[in-house]
Amino acid sequence: MDYLFRFERTRPFQKEMMDDITAALASRRDILINAPTGVGKTDAAISAALTYAMNNDLDVFFLTPKISQHRIAVESLSAIRSKFNLGINFVDMVGKRNMCVNEKTNAIENEAFYAACENLVKKGNCPFFSRAKLAADTRELNDVLNTGHNSLFEFSFDNGLCAYEVAAKLAKDARVVVAGYPHILNPYTKSTFLKKIAHSMERSIVIWDEAHNILEAANSYFSNAISNYTIERASAELKSIGSPMDLDYLSFALKNIAERRLGSKTEAFIYANDMPEEITSGIEKLNADMERAGLEFVEQSKAKRSSLVRLAKFLEEWNVESDSIARIMTRRNGRLRLTLSCLYPERSVPVFGDAYANIFMSATLVPLEMHAHLLGVGDAVLRSYGSPFPQANRRVFVDSSVTTKYEHRSLLEYKKIAANLMSIKAKIPGNLAVFFPSFEVLDSVHRYMADVSIFRQRRDMKNVAVERLITDFQKSNDSIMFAVMGGSLSEGIDYQNNSIKGIVIVGIPLTKPDLELSAKISYINKRFSGKGSEYMYTIPAVIRAVQAAGRAIRSESDRAVIVLMDMRYGWRMYSSLVRSSLPVEETKGYMFSIEEFWKSKKALA
Ligand code: SF4
Repeated sequence: MDYLFRFERTRPFQKEMMDDITAALASRRDILINAPTGVGKTDAAISAALTYAMNNDLDVFFLTPKISQHRIAVESLSAIRSKFNLGINFVDMVGKRNMCVNEKTNAIENEAFYAACENLVKKGNCPFFSRAKLAADTRELNDVLNTGHNSLFEFSFDNGLCAYEVAAKLAKDARVVVAGYPHILNPYTKSTFLKKIAHSMERSIVIWDEAHNILEAANSYFSNAISNYTIERASAELKSIGSPMDLDYLSFALKNIAERRLGSKTEAFIYANDMPEEITSGIEKLNADMERAGLEFVEQSKAKRSSLVRLAKFLEEWNVESDSIARIMTRRNGRLRLTLSCLYPERSVPVFGDAYANIFMSATLVPLEMHAHLLGVGDAVLRSYGSPFPQANRRVFVDSSVTTKYEHRSLLEYKKIAANLMSIKAKIPGNLAVFFPSFEVLDSVHRYMADVSIFRQRRDMKNVAVERLITDFQKSNDSIMFAVMGGSLSEGIDYQNNSIKGIVIVGIPLTKPDLELSAKISYINKRFSGKGSEYMYTIPAVIRAVQAAGRAIRSESDRAVIVLMDMRYGWRMYSSLVRSSLPVEETKGYMFSIEEFWKSKKALA
């Protein structure tokens, strides 16, 4: 089959992947793809899907959880279009807030932004929106779009047009729409979005990039939290605009629920009918009043957010009847917190069945069967591909001499871990990254790393500080970095130029057991025949470890050693999962093997 492929040659496994996608599409089946870094998944998926779509008069959505992942899709589409001189349009869309050119609203954050934008549009008070609506055909913009949403934003800004509206207009004629998950996955926005861009799910192939994130992303659309502090700030906002509204009864209701359900505990399940009926029966009016007052507060005080709007959005979800939502109250440091936690996104999942077909892909979509099960696409094609990078460039060992298992945690154990880390570092000619299951373990081991300078991730580190840490660590040639798994330093980040020569995964990053986790496990047990603990607890922890372990080898010439440091990596339940992603070697004398590995490097050089 001749594919619309931008390069002259395919990489190992790329052609196989394109053929597998085409076969799945031809039989109108979904496909789940687990392919490691380096296979060139984005190019393969776009080429196969676009070729099939062009031949069968379909459209394509390429959806990602992060804006930064749009770039490669846009580059691929631009290159295909010019190489084959195709008369197709594509558009790169990000969320409305990131495309807003109206300086009255674009600094506002979260829910308040969407409420403010909707309010302006409804009243005809956003000139950028009105101009974009009236703008003539925007097809000539296609050259601008070759470089993605940033240039579209600049063009719109220069011409006084709402960039989101311009993008939506262009999307009507687009064969491919690059967008974020929420555009299609969030049922609150999906229908309006599809109508606006005149596309239908039935005629669309949907590529879900980084698909291991889908359920978590979807859960977040239905989860929300407030605290008594939110109510206090909302009351202060009312006071500042001189509103006669009074929220004392909400604070009182919260305290009352705490007395009845929480008592002396720190967390407890609560139920929809714990909220007094006077509140729940009039919730719509209350929400509308709070939203209006919140927007007035934002406008008057030039604030970036509003607790009134936040409270209104929270209460909007409160009355939703669903056993996939857990209501949890916690007390920490004297503060009461009320959380609506989505256990499973049952309102998002039906979208997969609406599409012509879905392509789910990731470098950590393991085990494929679990993902197919959870996504509700049980008859999908499942495919896993090998790494295109030389096997000899990566050695993976297990150190079973220590563990971070809760009942074994002790000062002695932390001391042993620190000593092992120092020995490993001494055998590695370059940077060593060490990933921990929690800050608690990180800090405990750190105490025993005497006289060593360490780039150390800290709790609540701001983005700027994280970026500085990454840059400084990569620049240094002989350092250690301590970070936690499941965080910004262990996932979704490429350490450049083989700047990490060794990775140690200390322990297994299991989620701390709490009420939310137990609610998720029991919900999944009921819905997916007893798989709760495996799907919500064990497997996600191993995936976090594998993600962190994958940070060192990002190109064909990168070389590194990986040590999985915990006796449990030798246990069958963890070992079989890890082995489906990493070529683990059994070796007791792994320190010697590390030394040999780097000597052979010298010999090669
Ligand atoms: S319509 Fe567009 S420009 Fe106007 S506030 Fe909304 S996003 Fe911003």
